[in-house]
Amino acid sequence: MSAAPTRGRGWQGAVLKLLGGDDFELTVTGTEVITDHYVRVNFTGGGLLKKRPLHPTMWIRMWFDDAGKLHQRGYTLVDADPATDTFGIEFAIHEGVAARWAQKAQPGDMINATFMGSKFAMPEGVRGWIVAGDPASLPAINSLLDAISASAHPDTPARIWLEYQHESDKTIPVRSRPQDTVEWVARERDGAALVDAVRAAAFDASDHFGWVALDSVSTRAVLASFKNEYRLPKNSIKAQAYWIAGKPFS
Ligand SMILES: Cc1cc2nc3c(=O)[nH]c(=O)nc-3n(C[C@H](O)[C@H](O)[C@H](O)COP(=O)(O)OP(=O)(O)OC[C@H]3O[C@@H](n4cnc5c(N)ncnc54)[C@H](O)[C@@H]3O)c2cc1C
Repeated sequence: MSAAPTRGRGWQGAVLKLLGGDDFELTVTGTEVITDHYVRVNFTGGGLLKKRPLHPTMWIRMWFDDAGKLHQRGYTLVDADPATDTFGIEFAIHEGVAARWAQKAQPGDMINATFMGSKFAMPEGVRGWIVAGDPASLPAINSLLDAISASAHPDTPARIWLEYQHESDKTIPVRSRPQDTVEWVARERDGAALVDAVRAAAFDASDHFGWVALDSVSTRAVLASFKNEYRLPKNSIKAQAYWIAGKPFS
């Protein structure tokens, strides 16, 4: 199947173009079922990794076709190799145009992606990490753990909370090291259970770095806890909503 044309992207496409977003045509090279609710699709990047330097948590805006209308969704590069311009994308599966596309992807399928807005530099001199995420942000969290391991201070520990919706989520590989702590928390009360788990463990983490990506409401609540209860300065936190409960991300 050939890539969808760029028309049909609506105002979001026009704004990204005006802001200088770069477009790339990705080609599927293979797929892998990791659990009943998590699939990996491997790609060649159509020049993406030749043009854009790699950073931890790097993400792209993929354009998914739904009856001629294109919908933009954020996805994270996994195991990216600039030498071969190849990477994987891991899709948490739920209802949605992107998740549907991933389940049907076949080698040779093509899809457009725009690079715009992704940036993250590893912080210097932090004593530890506190991290909250879920299967949608696990690819980014794994890239952070890889980056800590490759840094000048690979022993820096991470305390990680991961929310799950399916029992099988807990079998998705987490690239944690012996010094890390990983706690899986069932999604209950619209995400409040994970927020409570984060709050319950609060300590003075003012020399740590905090990273959170959950649904929009939980992301805001964990951000507040990192600031108020963990005493993290604002510039020692990266928080981004990865999805919106009960509605499409648009
Ligand atoms: C920077 C960034 C990077 C991201 N990287 C990844 C990634 O690598 N892998 C990944 O799987 N996702 C990732 N996401 C999240 C992904 O973009 C959203 O989950 C998106 O909404 C999926 O689009 P969709 O078309 O499948 O569902 P939508 O049409 O957006 O939503 C349809 C329904 O599914 C629900 N829904 C959407 N996402 C989820 C979810 N994760 N869990 C449960 N229910 C959901 C919505 O509430 C809605 O009811 C990333 C998001 C951002 C902002």
